Amino acid sequence: MSAASGKGKTTLLRQTLSEIDRILLQQYGPQKCFLEHETPFQLLVATILSAQCTDKMVNKVTAELFQKYSEPAHFASLQAEELEKWIHSCGYYRAKAKNIILASKAIVEQFDSQLPDNMEDLTALPGVGRKTANVVLADSFGVPGLPVDTHVKRITNLLGLVKTEDPVKIETILCSALPPERWGEFSHLLIVHGRTLCPAGRPKCEHCPVSHLCRHAAGKNKLKKGKKK
Ligand code: SF4
Repeated sequence: MSAASGKGKTTLLRQTLSEIDRILLQQYGPQKCFLEHETPFQLLVATILSAQCTDKMVNKVTAELFQKYSEPAHFASLQAEELEKWIHSCGYYRAKAKNIILASKAIVEQFDSQLPDNMEDLTALPGVGRKTANVVLADSFGVPGLPVDTHVKRITNLLGLVKTEDPVKIETILCSALPPERWGEFSHLLIVHGRTLCPAGRPKCEHCPVSHLCRHAAGKNKLKKGKKK
């Protein structure tokens, strides 16, 4: 993005984001949640498990786990050691088991076993941050939310849309420039872009459909031209 200020900067960001969203949607098609689930609560559990773990592994683990335990009351009555055995392959299993059991207890005791559908109550649950809450809000409750994970953080910085590592700031900037109905899917599109053409440390800029809008690609091109002189 070129330098601009004030209102012009906001308009430029809005236009650039809208164009990137349009191109990525064309490239990857409509997106849905990568984590298999049947209820909002199951999505919450799957999202907690997905920290530092692949969706594929989480889906493998939950396919068996949710057959046996699927409701908040089931998890609330589990001993940590028992749950740890089930989720061992997701990594950080001790902390994840502890958080899932504590969050389940809170849902049973404070929300009559129904997962709350707002940011404040969700983020008050143990182990539930804004990213997890946004995943659940956007996918299960139709409440606009833009989850900022490592792909979203990295790619929005590479593109030059933001210049910060703070997920809350990134979420605020993106949400201010994109219509709410695009927040959830835009986050999914960046994640799939991060898994295909723009992985960490080895972006395939020469094949990227948004390279003409990317600050990182512009920097690389400048460098190449400089070397040719
Ligand atoms: S141009 Fe390169 S760095 Fe920029 S988004 Fe595409 S793959 Fe990522």
